[in-house]
Amino acid sequence: EIRTPMNAIIGMTDIAKANMSDMNKVEECLDKIESSSQHLLTLINDILDLSKIESGRMTLVSRTMSLDKIADKVEMLMRPQTDEKNITFELKRDYVRPIVVGDELRLSQILINIAGNALKFTHENGKITVRIQEVYSDNKAARIKFSIKDNGIGISREDQKKIFIAFEQAGQNSSSKYGGTGLGLAICREIINAHKQTIDVVSTVGVGSEFVFTLPKA
Ligand code: ADP
Repeated sequence: EIRTPMNAIIGMTDIAKANMSDMNKVEECLDKIESSSQHLLTLINDILDLSKIESGRMTLVSRTMSLDKIADKVEMLMRPQTDEKNITFELKRDYVRPIVVGDELRLSQILINIAGNALKFTHENGKITVRIQEVYSDNKAARIKFSIKDNGIGISREDQKKIFIAFEQAGQNSSSKYGGTGLGLAICREIINAHKQTIDVVSTVGVGSEFVFTLPKA
């Protein structure tokens, strides 16, 4: 996976060197080198992040955090992109006391990643709903449930088992069609597991997907 962008960079450098007199060609090569380098950097950062988490070297800062602040961040990042794609974006804040326990940076990372996927895999004029909900069960303390729902392309049953594994993507040629590294959800799952929680997906091909996880309430 790291070899693909690296080979592109080496190949494009060779082509540029062989065509120094053709400025258009050189510029085209530099553009490709730039985008491959960006992709490679994302990949390296994700791999480092994942290996840090997997080796237990990730330190979680577990403190109380403001749900409003996190919701505002998701709204701020998502709204311009959903507007641009003409997607209806709804953010439901169904909680009374807006406090939850966990690692704020890591929680934002998870939400942005999953909401970013929803954006990527939902067609124009579609709909994405992020719901942050206080839930109660008989003998357990109150919890905060995070749900990210879209009416995009959906994920087959078979693929639902794979997508939380590093480098796995759904479908035949997801990476050439939609880009990505297949590392985002693996990282999300590791962070959620480190909080002693789980993440689930409910999805139907052609109908949409919903990702759900919970955190203890302060
Ligand atoms: P990436 O998006 O970088 O490929 P992820 O680990 O975030 O990696 O996601 C893995 C795969 O799961 C995606 O490539 C895609 O096939 C599938 N997937 C994730 N979220 C959605 C979604 N909301 N709708 C459809 N497919 C999804």
